[in-house]
Amino acid sequence: MKKLYEGKAKIIYTTDHPEILLTQFKDDVTAFNSLKRGIIPGKGEINCQISSALFKWLESKDIATHFIDQPAHSQMRIRAVKIVPIEVVVRNIAAGSLCRQTGLIEGKILPFPLVEFYLKNDELGDPLLTSDRLLLLELASQKQVEQLQSIALKINQYLTEFFASCQITLVDFKLEFGLDPQENLLLADEISPDTCRLWDQQTKSLRDRVLDKDRFRHDLGKVEAAYQQVRQRVLEKLGIR
Ligand code: UDP
Repeated sequence: MKKLYEGKAKIIYTTDHPEILLTQFKDDVTAFNSLKRGIIPGKGEINCQISSALFKWLESKDIATHFIDQPAHSQMRIRAVKIVPIEVVVRNIAAGSLCRQTGLIEGKILPFPLVEFYLKNDELGDPLLTSDRLLLLELASQKQVEQLQSIALKINQYLTEFFASCQITLVDFKLEFGLDPQENLLLADEISPDTCRLWDQQTKSLRDRVLDKDRFRHDLGKVEAAYQQVRQRVLEKLGIR
């Protein structure tokens, strides 16, 4: 096994099969373009378990993903893909950068799910892209942009319903996609409290309801407990434990 790439939250290793890679999920956490760093003990395992369970479930709904299996709690075997350098964000409720950039009040339910594309480039601070910029930078073809949009909306429908069944509101989330050797778009990366905003429907307290990385971003405390809570509800609902 050779280390192929080390990112902020995951390490990717090669395997003896050229089309299969191994992802090791880390406990390290970063926010604000890595200005804030920390460790959430157990996060690697938790995020890997949540992501694996959700990828598997989405596969059963005919969403193609890079997920193969989970050989250990914090490891995922994945299909090797060429990552499309776009972060696809879907929003159901106003929060985070949408509020900062538009003045919308946090918590406002959006009249329709918003799909946004950001350039995956830390040096440039992951800027928001327009559809023309996407084409200009040749990040994806018009057809792929339409495909990304429609897959993201479908995933949003499935996940919103699923999290609601866990008494959790899916506020917004980020997806990444990759192209397999046949140029098929596969859902990649992870779906976890690191990449989603998740609000607990079982509490009215604005502070306590946060079950995601915002607890770390804004020093709300009990970060690990929140992640564990999400894992428990997700795995239980999917009959995994
Ligand atoms: N997000 C992410 N990685 C990023 C940027 C955003 O996973 O590099 C997720 C974030 O956790 C949230 C959603 O995408 O669930 C929308 O994030 P937003 O644009 O509001 O950014 P932020 O407020 O985190 O700067």
